Amino acid sequence: MADRTTTGASGNASVWTVIPVAKPLLGDIEGDAARAVVLSGWITQGREVEAFEREFATAVGAANACAVSSCTAALALALRAVGVGPGDEVVTVSHSFIAAANCIRALGAQPRFVDIELDTFNLDPELLDAAITPRARAIVCVHQIGMPCDLSRILATAKKHGLPVLEDAACAAGSEVLTDGRWERIGRPHGDIACFSFHPRKVITTGEGGMLTTANPEWDRLFRAWRQHGMDVAAADRHQAPAVIFERYPVEGTNCRMTDVQAAIGRKQLARLPHIIERRRRLADRYQDLFGSASTVRVPTERSWARSNWQSYCVRLPNHVVQREAMQRLLDRGISTRRGIMCAHREAPYVEMDHSPLPQSEAAQDRCILLPLYPQMTDAEQNEVAAAVRKVCSE
Ligand SMILES: *Cc1c(COP(=O)(O)O)cnc(C)c1O
Repeated sequence: MADRTTTGASGNASVWTVIPVAKPLLGDIEGDAARAVVLSGWITQGREVEAFEREFATAVGAANACAVSSCTAALALALRAVGVGPGDEVVTVSHSFIAAANCIRALGAQPRFVDIELDTFNLDPELLDAAITPRARAIVCVHQIGMPCDLSRILATAKKHGLPVLEDAACAAGSEVLTDGRWERIGRPHGDIACFSFHPRKVITTGEGGMLTTANPEWDRLFRAWRQHGMDVAAADRHQAPAVIFERYPVEGTNCRMTDVQAAIGRKQLARLPHIIERRRRLADRYQDLFGSASTVRVPTERSWARSNWQSYCVRLPNHVVQREAMQRLLDRGISTRRGIMCAHREAPYVEMDHSPLPQSEAAQDRCILLPLYPQMTDAEQNEVAAAVRKVCSE
């Protein structure tokens, strides 16, 4: 196995034994920002969180942005805001990270899984209408691995049935859709609420963290109460008030606050987002060229109205290649990969559930692999990955 020393953004060297599948872009900029917050003496949700929310809202063109501790927490609050409860159904995909399905279940509702499109890994809008039963209460669409889903068709179907659309935009910070002739970032939101993740596997990170965006100020107000125990005054506001404030708890809430340490890191990450996306798009274009028309593997498709942030680069293996063996042979050559995105309906809590056939979802999990792609990736590393993939697929 090859031993590699790579140099991070700040010049700090770290040893990777393999070309990793992903790697956050972090350096002194984030380190200094976190340090300043620690030394300020105020480290939980406060002014940094407020500033991160404002900057994120501006970046995605949203009226309101509310920071929380994870995208999973954001999804839970979003589902609650639109009134999902016991006995309801929420139409979504199985072929996604399991968080949304789990959040639906946690409210006593059931996910109704729809299959995906072969080439975008996103909810197949053709199948949506038939999946909506009288029990349906909401639609959760996913911009899978940063590729925008077909929002215009999904929103049209949702409107016909009077259902709210929640966008699981965990991976989609900086992804864009063409709307009325203009490129708009995901998260305006185009649906009712969008939920983002800042886990290190996503394009920008705060370690753990999430964000809710919505045009609805009433929901935004609820998110702010729910994330801090239902309290009617933020700790930072009470701390700075010249007069005594007794807080009230008018609604039931939870604790899913983001800390100021995380938000300070997030602000620096957000400033890097244009650079990160530019790098990721360049690498995605290069992969396409490297695999070329020889079609060793099937490369992902971007619709004319979609621009991915390429949070992951997912390729489909030729039929004669066994996924696990190919991944092992790549790992033996010092290249880390991941299998295709999971399917929730194949995991223990969901296997007993009735669902329509999900052939594309299952094939995508079984026949696809995610290739290394991160902003610091060199052309030489990428050439090595492409050559190894070609070799493994031709053996
Ligand atoms: C990562 C991810 C999540 C969960 O995000 P967390 O911030 O880790 O809770 C949810 N949905 C999708 C599609 C994801 O990729």
